[in-house]
Amino acid sequence: MQIVIIGAGTFGASLAWTLARAGEDVVLVDQFEPGDRRATSGGESRLIRCSHGGDALYTASARRARALWRELEAECGEELMVEIGMAWFAQREDGWEAESERAMSAQGIPCERLDPADAAKLFPSLGTDDLEFVLYEPEAGVVRAQRAVQALARQAVAHGARLVRGRALPDGDAAVITGSAAAAASCGAMGAGEQRLEGDAIVWACGPWLNGLFGELVPLSVTRQELLFFDGGPAWRSPGVPGWVDYDLAMYGTGDLDELGVKAALDREGPPLEPDADLPAAGATEQEVRAYLARRFPGLAGAPLKEGRCCRYELSADSNFIAARHPELDRTWILGGGSGHGFKHGPALAERVSDALRGGKPLPERFGLGARAVGRSFRTAGSGAP
Ligand SMILES: Cc1cc2nc3c(=O)[nH]c(=O)nc-3n(C[C@H](O)[C@H](O)[C@H](O)COP(=O)(O)OP(=O)(O)OC[C@H]3O[C@@H](n4cnc5c(N)ncnc54)[C@H](O)[C@@H]3O)c2cc1C
Repeated sequence: MQIVIIGAGTFGASLAWTLARAGEDVVLVDQFEPGDRRATSGGESRLIRCSHGGDALYTASARRARALWRELEAECGEELMVEIGMAWFAQREDGWEAESERAMSAQGIPCERLDPADAAKLFPSLGTDDLEFVLYEPEAGVVRAQRAVQALARQAVAHGARLVRGRALPDGDAAVITGSAAAAASCGAMGAGEQRLEGDAIVWACGPWLNGLFGELVPLSVTRQELLFFDGGPAWRSPGVPGWVDYDLAMYGTGDLDELGVKAALDREGPPLEPDADLPAAGATEQEVRAYLARRFPGLAGAPLKEGRCCRYELSADSNFIAARHPELDRTWILGGGSGHGFKHGPALAERVSDALRGGKPLPERFGLGARAVGRSFRTAGSGAP
């Protein structure tokens, strides 16, 4: 099969790697270099965890992805995933954490229920007054996101894929590419510097740009989010200190990995931010994040801010991914809607999509196109969803 993939974020580059190593003929197109900071996949680190409340599909997908990230590491010889462990702070007996515990146990995925006093030993300091228990996932951790996307694209090329730099627009069941060296060399019937790419399938994995390309078929909200990095000193280094998520309070973070600083982020949906707009300076969430840190990790109260970064979420209404065939264009597929939790799933979702493209198992209905009702968030409860 000949497959054209537009977008080399975790979804598109994972698909390119998966298909190219299965021997398919792949062209991967991106307007930027893989790992560029303007793409949602362009951050230094992303959490990988199997907890997804009671949802068996995402639980299994994250576990499968973990195995596939390890396969990618073995191919490229880089450490891309660091198992620092993950602590889920449960304020309720019957919340997301208890559901996650049941779903993971049913699939044989290691997890442990810790009482707050034991959980406190995982961190240099931990405020536990409001906690019922802590769910600990020892095999969860972090993927070095930017490097992982670069490795996916590189390995796809090593398996025979062609990487093209340029901006694509849909034209029926094809893509017209502008602005690439390859396009400039092949004017043909197209305008100068344009190239038309067709294949047995064309997959648009364009992250926050999908809505602009396909309108109401892909109703995503694109929002501005912040990541803050604090100087906690050597005691807060990861591995050593685990990652953590406070689902009900919409906060998450990690210890200091790769000397970037202790990462802490407010997960509530930020204001709208156009996909092509410059990423603004971070800082708008600092006060709220600091107030949370002082309560949850008293040792970090007053820690100097090392750096703040802005990035974009592309959110579907129910935080389910989008992976489906276009209703009118037989060879056109749309892949995206990572909704703030998609990175880790890249290679596992790619396996599903690759199977569907080749006539195998259909994609889950909940990944379908068009409007969706608001649903519970697979990220944290910060979206305001029930
Ligand atoms: C702050 C933050 C924290 C997050 N934390 C986590 C986490 O802890 N764990 C987790 O699993 N996930 C997390 N996510 C979510 C995850 O990063 C995203 O779901 C995922 O990266 C989306 O990948 P993508 O491939 O769909 O999109 P992108 O990475 O945006 O890739 C799309 C690509 O398409 C290209 N493109 C777009 N339009 C065109 C065009 N017309 N022509 C050519 N190229 C085009 C872009 O240049 C881009 O490279 C987080 C996201 C953010 C922003």
